[in-house]
Amino acid sequence: MTVGVLALQGDFREHAQVLRTLGADVVLVRRPEELARVDGLVIPGGESSVMDKLARAFGLADPLRAAVREGLPVYGTCAGLIMLADTVVDGIRGQESIGGLDISVRRNAFGSQTQSFETDLDVPVLGEAPVHAVFIRAPVVDTVGPRATALARLADGRCVAVEQGRLLGTSFHPEITGEHRFHEYFLGTVSAARFLG
Ligand code: GLN
Repeated sequence: MTVGVLALQGDFREHAQVLRTLGADVVLVRRPEELARVDGLVIPGGESSVMDKLARAFGLADPLRAAVREGLPVYGTCAGLIMLADTVVDGIRGQESIGGLDISVRRNAFGSQTQSFETDLDVPVLGEAPVHAVFIRAPVVDTVGPRATALARLADGRCVAVEQGRLLGTSFHPEITGEHRFHEYFLGTVSAARFLG
């Protein structure tokens, strides 16, 4: 199974490491030819406005949109979740997303870098043990549209993980805490998609 990690910017190395640990062949994706080779794609954390600019500059934005439309499994963390959102409430002027998830997201919803925090979350699809989640200038999912499903919420009810078909997104960063269950779950989607075509 070949899984791409969008490697324009952000913490793509950490994702690549987790995916390799789980037995996937990893391709760092910077060009459309690399995207065309993968069975699934991870979009890392970083800065979504910069990632968007680079995706356009590298000629990847439209191929990414087409890939999502054609059913490529994609998992986005933090900035990656923003890239997958149909609506970005407060994007930097001219910021575009790839879209696919029927959600609206609010960037930097918890404040600046210094207000980053960690907490334990219940994520029923991953089993009983809570997920230790790290939020770094994280977005929140403001609206979960009818086609998307919330997978986890903070104690105050705000949504921080969503799924829609083959798309998965988290506001937080499992790739930096040794939490592999989201990546495992995503690889399950990738292998089912390969089987079903
Ligand atoms: N605040 C960043 C953005 O808007 C996301 C931060 C992150 O990926 N840790 O893209």
